[in-house]
Amino acid sequence: MTYDTENIFAKILRGEIPSEKLYEDEDTYAFMDIMPRAEGHCLVIPKGPAINMLDATPQQLAACIKTVHILGHAVMRGLGAGGVKVEQYSEAVSGQEVFHLHYHVLPFYEGKRMENPGA
Ligand code: IMP
Repeated sequence: MTYDTENIFAKILRGEIPSEKLYEDEDTYAFMDIMPRAEGHCLVIPKGPAINMLDATPQQLAACIKTVHILGHAVMRGLGAGGVKVEQYSEAVSGQEVFHLHYHVLPFYEGKRMENPGA
């Protein structure tokens, strides 16, 4: 598979469709998931092209994890989450729907059940 420059996250990066931005640096962009599975469910993507984790460079992966770390602390501090789950789907058979590398940052709250934890 080749990287499709018309995927929805590429369009978000180009500012062609809106997103709720949380954080940005030279290499990564973080924004709210449009269909949150928990309060504060957000996504981290590299600014350069990468289909998924298997397609990404070590530099892209390192940059994304650094931003995941920042966002993880932000949801703990800012939203009072008790913990965080990080998900990354690579290839359609695993559940990947958008073919630009992204990490889900899913906050968990003490005593609160997730709506749809496996979706
Ligand atoms: P995945 O490819 O299975 O990891 O899922 C793609 C994720 O992107 C889902 O959680 C969607 O809700 C999310 N998503 C799809 N389109 C948008 C968008 O335009 N803005 C923010 N999140 C989106």
